[in-house]
Amino acid sequence: MKKFTIFGNPVSHSKSPQMHNAGFKAIGFDGEYSKTHLENGEEIKNVFIDGGFSGANITVPHKEFAYKNADILDPLAQKIGAVNTYVNIDGKIKGYNTDAPGFYKAIEEFDDVSNILLLGAGGTAKSIAVILREKNIPLTILNRSHNSKEFFLSLGCEFYDFETFTKEKQFDLIVNSTSAGLSDDSFPAPLEILTPLIKNTKYAIDCIYGKITPFLSLAKEHNITFKDGEDMLLYQGVLAFELFTGTKADNMVIEAMRKGLKG
Ligand code: NDP
Repeated sequence: MKKFTIFGNPVSHSKSPQMHNAGFKAIGFDGEYSKTHLENGEEIKNVFIDGGFSGANITVPHKEFAYKNADILDPLAQKIGAVNTYVNIDGKIKGYNTDAPGFYKAIEEFDDVSNILLLGAGGTAKSIAVILREKNIPLTILNRSHNSKEFFLSLGCEFYDFETFTKEKQFDLIVNSTSAGLSDDSFPAPLEILTPLIKNTKYAIDCIYGKITPFLSLAKEHNITFKDGEDMLLYQGVLAFELFTGTKADNMVIEAMRKGLKG
């Protein structure tokens, strides 16, 4: 039986084992996916090899350690600077980033999106920005601070803080990649900036999953089509599953994984 795991700290809340085990069962794959609490991210490579794992996912706060400790990097992971998936290839660890294409898959159902506003400039925002710029989609970042501003400018994004943002702008899709609303009732940007933007957009997506955040409530109030981060989480898992098993996930597998995710 092949062994897989998710590394994180904390990791007890993770739904990845139930999602992947449901996918394995659906195709009759002889694998078992567990959780591994990892205190020190520098130890990720040794723990992965000593544990005899064939593959792993990596969550907060270890994605940059996973990137630094991979033997080989997929070009997209290299560009993003963070790894959320390890695959053991003949004793060498190959690092991938499936968060970025997972996000892209999650927004595929939104038609006619030709410019996007991304709220936040953290790790998730970086992976989203890289994939959207690879697809040549014009992208504007709005963040409360200038953290990582240069990274986004180098991708060809526009970058604003709450002081420099011009309020007349219009976007087809607004993405919340901040943690505002995760464990509090805050909005990702001041309401005098956010409300007109939401009123004039077609779609809104929050990376936070499993709840209607204040950001999504605002979209709902203005009859904007919206979704939470569940599809993003599902599709990053589906893409990792394909790397783990070497099997393309069809709709039956995807729905089994979604059911697993929902528990
Ligand atoms: P980071 O800590 O790397 O970045 C957080 C970002 O949010 C930063 O830009 C930070 O601003 C901003 N921020 C935090 N609090 C506030 C606030 N109260 N108001 C405005 N801005 C704020 O986190 P991640 O990028 O790793 O994760 C971001 C979110 O995405 C989390 O909620 C996480 O749960 C979710 N997520 C969902 C995934 C999915 O599959 N659905 C996958 C990964 C993450 P500053 O730069 O100034 O500090």
